[in-house]
Amino acid sequence: MKLNSEKLLGKQFNLLTIEEIDDHHWSRKIAFCSCECGGHTSPRLSDVVRGHTRSCGCLNKKRAKKGKSLVHWNSRRRKYEVIYQGKHIGFFYEEALAKQVLLTQENKNV
Ligand SMILES: [Zn+2]
Repeated sequence: MKLNSEKLLGKQFNLLTIEEIDDHHWSRKIAFCSCECGGHTSPRLSDVVRGHTRSCGCLNKKRAKKGKSLVHWNSRRRKYEVIYQGKHIGFFYEEALAKQVLLTQENKNV
């Protein structure tokens, strides 16, 4: 893919707006971008255009904040605990049932 730097200036890709392009590295142009969250980042131009880099990193942080979803054995209660996105959902006697509950939660929140 050939990237025309001038045409890409000011364009928005996902959360990033390209403000400046450093053309000096012929093989990998650097795009100086502002992010919708107010942050800044300077990834490779091709990564921005192709969507490999979609934010200054705030998107990843948001995703991480959601927390873990899992079924784990709670030895104190002697039951299976269902955690969905970091929140306690409930305790269950059977692992299969706990997994079913977690699956239902996940389907609800797609
Ligand atoms: Zn951001």
